[in-house]
Amino acid sequence: MTTVTTGITTTDQARRADLETPSSRQLARADARTAHNYHPLPVVVEHAEGAWMTDLEGARYLDLLAGYSALNFGHGHPTLLRAAHEQLDRLTLTSRAFVHDQFADFCGALGDLCGKDLVLPMNTGAEAVETAIKVARKWGYEVKGVAPDAAEIIVMSGNFHGRTTTIVGFSDDPEARDGFGPFTPGFRTVTYGDLAALQAAITPATVAVLLEPIQGESGVVIPPLGYLSGVRELCTRHGVLLAADEIQAGLGRTGRTFACDHEGVVPDLYVLGKALGGGIVPVSAVVADRDVLGVLRPGQHGSTFGGNPLACAVGRTVVEMLSTGEHQARARDLGEVLRERLDAMLGRGVVGVRTRGLWAGVDVDPRVGTGREVCERLMERGVLAKDTHGSTIRLAPPLVIAEDDLLWGLDQLADLVGA
Ligand SMILES: *Cc1c(COP(=O)(O)O)cnc(C)c1O
Repeated sequence: MTTVTTGITTTDQARRADLETPSSRQLARADARTAHNYHPLPVVVEHAEGAWMTDLEGARYLDLLAGYSALNFGHGHPTLLRAAHEQLDRLTLTSRAFVHDQFADFCGALGDLCGKDLVLPMNTGAEAVETAIKVARKWGYEVKGVAPDAAEIIVMSGNFHGRTTTIVGFSDDPEARDGFGPFTPGFRTVTYGDLAALQAAITPATVAVLLEPIQGESGVVIPPLGYLSGVRELCTRHGVLLAADEIQAGLGRTGRTFACDHEGVVPDLYVLGKALGGGIVPVSAVVADRDVLGVLRPGQHGSTFGGNPLACAVGRTVVEMLSTGEHQARARDLGEVLRERLDAMLGRGVVGVRTRGLWAGVDVDPRVGTGREVCERLMERGVLAKDTHGSTIRLAPPLVIAEDDLLWGLDQLADLVGA
């Protein structure tokens, strides 16, 4: 077997040169036997609770990534665990060939949370995005009257909607896209945040605008105020569906249930995932009114695992937890703390800060180091975060994080960048 050393950091090597530890053994084994489509920080997590993770040697780390918002309620939330355990013992999978007793409650609760008629459950975020694309196209042909195979969907520069071939085909990130063509036609890219560009791109064949109300992967990029409501207005005026990918931004992260709520915008399709599975199982969904989702008939779309009993039991509990508004309020309150602390680092090792609720993109001064280097040094101090695009660090702590823990984590960052 050849030894692959590409993408291995000095920290990895230092770890591996260490005397054999349970973690170093796991890291070496993982390295040898897995595709290198990720470059994880060299930490091997063994258990976790709330905002804290513990590695094989018993060292504790504050989780400031929360599974890219999949862990909005933290690790092992007792309410979610209870729902999962109860369902595990009773019924886990039927396929959609039969109906199970968790299905109607989940779909009803999620539909109510979104203020929409119908729910189409899937598993991963990318599948939900694919579902929204199919629904928008079908709607375009059957309702809007677009000529066969002519439908166009407008997407945004800097987008991230997942990793399937269709989705990476309309990404403008060379890393996500290069080497995976040929791609699905029917997508047009406009500059995110530019209403005039969007207006100019709309044609009679446009069936949908697909956007993230805040771009997560891009580095928590927040469009100018008035943009989302402007997009809503353009879509309504031109008979175009607005599909909001709230997979990372939605479900409490920004201090509201949905990021679109900040501008009072209601999309035609909500595309949800990540936190919907409570950090336990993959659960995603497209939520829309009957005049849109109603275009799908039996046999035209599906998923073996989509809407399974375990997913529905956990997903319904997530929706119940969000319906009190408690987690959204916490994201707002802690978000103030986050913003204040990060703003204080501006000009002192940090050159840019964007926050909305308990979510931040932090541009570190390149003289301090790359985002990856900063995350490695944070790890050494017991804080786990993730870099994105060069020198940006994304912070998305679990919404249940204790304020003191958040402050401690931010102190580590401040200290490290020299603020
Ligand atoms: C993570 C993410 C996806 C893809 O979700 P997966 O579950 O990884 O397929 C899609 N859109 C956005 C905005 C995301 O953050």
